[in-house]
Amino acid sequence: MQWRHSTPLGSPAAGRLADGVRLPPAGRAIFTWDPVLRRSPNRPWRRWGTDRLVRIVLRVARADQAAHPRGPRLGIGDLSRPHGGDFGPRFGYIGHASHQNGLDVDVYYPRADRRERAPRYASQIDRRRSQELVDRFLAAGAVAIFVGPNTGLTGPPGVVMPLVNHDNHLHVRIGP
Ligand SMILES: [Zn+2]
Repeated sequence: MQWRHSTPLGSPAAGRLADGVRLPPAGRAIFTWDPVLRRSPNRPWRRWGTDRLVRIVLRVARADQAAHPRGPRLGIGDLSRPHGGDFGPRFGYIGHASHQNGLDVDVYYPRADRRERAPRYASQIDRRRSQELVDRFLAAGAVAIFVGPNTGLTGPPGVVMPLVNHDNHLHVRIGP
C-alpha cells in the first residue's frame, strides 16, 4: 500500500485524478469485487481513489468488521481508473456516469447468507448491517450516498438518495 497525497480534479462526472492511491485487492476487513467479470478480486485499474477516500473505505470496513466479526468481509467495487477520467460503458457493463476523480466508491451490501460476493437483489441483503454502513459512511464524511429503491435504506434527504441500479450496492461520494 503506497500512500501519497492525491488531488481530485474537476467533478465526479467530468474529472481526473492526480497522484491517486490504489485500494488493495483484499484485506482483513474487505474483499474487492469486479462488477463486469463478477469475480473477486476487482482488477487493479478499477481500484484507484484519493488517499482520503481509500482511508475512509478501510476505516469504515474495519469498524464494520469489528461490529460483525463472524460476518463476511465488506465487498468493495469500483473506485476510479488510475488517472481518473471516463469510466463509462466502454469499461464494461453499463459503466459509471461519475467515478471520474477519485471521490466515488461502490460498496456491496453484505449478504444475509454471508457469502463474499455481490448480491443481485435487495431481498438478499443484510438490511440492518447495510443501514449501519450508510450511517458509518455519513459519519466518515460522505456528501452523497445512492441506495437502491428496494433496499429500504434511509438517511438525511438530499444526502442519502434512492437511485435505480443500486439495489445491490451503495454508491458513496466524499467531498474533495
Ligand atoms: Zn457508483
